[in-house]
Order: sequence, then structure tokens, then C-alpha cells
Amino acid sequence: MSTTATEDSAAVEAGALDVLIVGAGVSGVGAAYHLATQRPGTRFLVLDALESFGGTWLTHRYPGIRSDSDLYTFGYRFKPWVGPPIATAAEILAYMGAVIEENGLAPHIR
Ligand SMILES: Cc1cc2nc3c(=O)[nH]c(=O)nc-3n(C[C@H](O)[C@H](O)[C@H](O)COP(=O)(O)OP(=O)(O)OC[C@H]3O[C@@H](n4cnc5c(N)ncnc54)[C@H](O)[C@@H]3O)c2cc1C
Repeated sequence: MSTTATEDSAAVEAGALDVLIVGAGVSGVGAAYHLATQRPGTRFLVLDALESFGGTWLTHRYPGIRSDSDLYTFGYRFKPWVGPPIATAAEILAYMGAVIEENGLAPHIR
């Protein structure tokens, strides 16, 4: 998170980006992964209004929050889930954090 929202907006308007992903939830992080790995060289940013990635799993913080369905199907195909079928929000956030770290996506997420 090294630039300001104004600077990011300016970059978009100046055509310095190829792709702008809105939202750093499961969908946005997955899109970022695919751009980084399947379209190397693409200039992209993932912008989120929240303080960090996670989307649903960051905003819902009530006790006992967990997935409804199994993570073997909810998780990314490129990073198979290896934990228990039903996961807590914290476990899903950790999983997404690993995806971001392992693929060098952090500099793209604001
Ligand atoms: C308790 C609970 C359990 C669930 N269990 C399952 C399950 O088992 N299986 C399943 O498939 N789904 C489940 N879901 C649904 C789950 O929310 C989605 O599957 C998935 O997490 C949605 O990811 P997403 O990235 O599409 O959206 P979100 O997680 O909603 O992320 C969207 C992000 O975009 C950001 N954003 C939106 N608009 C803007 C904007 N204009 N500017 C900046 N940022 C913006 C938001 O801040 C947010 O961070 C569950 C939901 C809840 C609440």
C-alpha cells in the first residue's frame, strides 16, 4: 500500500494500467493470480475500500463465522485446500494471504 488513492486514480487515467480489479475478496485475488501467471507483464492493480484483502471474510467478524460449503470446492484450483472441509474466516484469510505471498501479489493490492 505504497501509493495514495489519488495517485492510483491518476495512474488509471494516464493509461499506466492495463487492468483495474475492484475488490480484494476471493474473486479479486483470484483474478490477480490469473493475470500475474497467465498474462505476465500486465500492469494491474486491485483496489479495495477496506483496509486489507479478504472481502466477505474480513467484513464478517461475528463469533463462529465459517464457510457454508467445503473448501475443496470453494478454494482456488491452483492452490488446493488441504485443511478440514469447513473453514473459519480466519483460516480462509490465512489461505488468501498465502496465495498473495506465494505469488508476489501484495504490491498490486491497495
Ligand atoms: C458466513 C458466510 C459464509 C459463506 N460461505 C460460503 C461458502 O461456503 N461457499 C461459497 O461459495 N460462498 C460462501 N459465502 C459467500 C462468499 O461471500 C462468496 O463466495 C465469496 O467470498 C465472495 O467473494 P468476492 O470476492 O466475490 O466478494 P467479496 O468477498 O464480497 O469481496 C468484494 C470486495 O470488493 C470490495 N468493493 C466492492 N465495491 C467496491 C468499490 N466500489 N470500491 C472498492 N472496493 C469495493 C469490497 O470492499 C470487498 O472487499 C459465504 C458468505 C458468508 C457471509
